[in-house]
Amino acid sequence: MPELPEVETIKRELEKVVLGKKIIDVIINHPKVIKEPKPKDFVGALEGITIKAVIRRGKLLILELSSGKALCIHLKLTGQLIYPGDAKSSRVSFKLSDGKFLDFRDLRVLGELRLISDWRSLKFVKELGPEIFALTLEEFKKKLEGKKTKIKILLMDQKFISGLGNLYAAEALFRARIHPERPAFSLSEKEKEKLFKEIKDTLLEAIQHKGSSVDAYRQLSGEPGDYVRYHKVYDRQGKPCLVCKTPIKRIDLGGRGTYFCPQCQK
Ligand SMILES: [Zn+2]
Repeated sequence: MPELPEVETIKRELEKVVLGKKIIDVIINHPKVIKEPKPKDFVGALEGITIKAVIRRGKLLILELSSGKALCIHLKLTGQLIYPGDAKSSRVSFKLSDGKFLDFRDLRVLGELRLISDWRSLKFVKELGPEIFALTLEEFKKKLEGKKTKIKILLMDQKFISGLGNLYAAEALFRARIHPERPAFSLSEKEKEKLFKEIKDTLLEAIQHKGSSVDAYRQLSGEPGDYVRYHKVYDRQGKPCLVCKTPIKRIDLGGRGTYFCPQCQK
């Protein structure tokens, strides 16, 4: 599933091509992805409207519109935004005033589009925790205090901090040399500090490389993200650790495949 670096990549690319453009037509090939309002009203409320701003909150993309409404796009597991698209392989396409299509593609049709007045009032947005970049080290440390939850599960909890999923939680924990099953409160001050830094560095590096295309994720252009070749543990089960050569292990943790080095991560 796209995480912060992938959605941030799409957000930055969208800003370059859609800002100030009008939506002149909406083509719906699969209405299931439109959660609200009804497809007919969705189309009616978008036609002739200008895209004013592109915002990302956690893994959610928000297009703020000249009508005062916002188009919220959650890519979920297999959603993609492609520009310029073809309006054929998409679930929904937006024809822009430049004559090109912005396609919302989604193989498994789990993505969600919403046209709403106040995106900040969405229940799931209100529950989102802060992003790591919004926290000071002291605030991060404080959030871990007394938490018995296993550190990797906690890092993936969007209510705790938002933006981190299975992939980047595993990578950041490897870089901080912390075992994913450690209870959060058991981290030493030094480990918390290291983890705080490594989460930020991992996310920033991934953004630089336009994200990781381990699944359906694509950049706006349709190109894959380039960060996969920099992964140190994710999806490297049985391969030698890049630091100590011990085979990387995969365990099930909270229902997700979790990769780590049993030697380096304590
Ligand atoms: Zn190792």
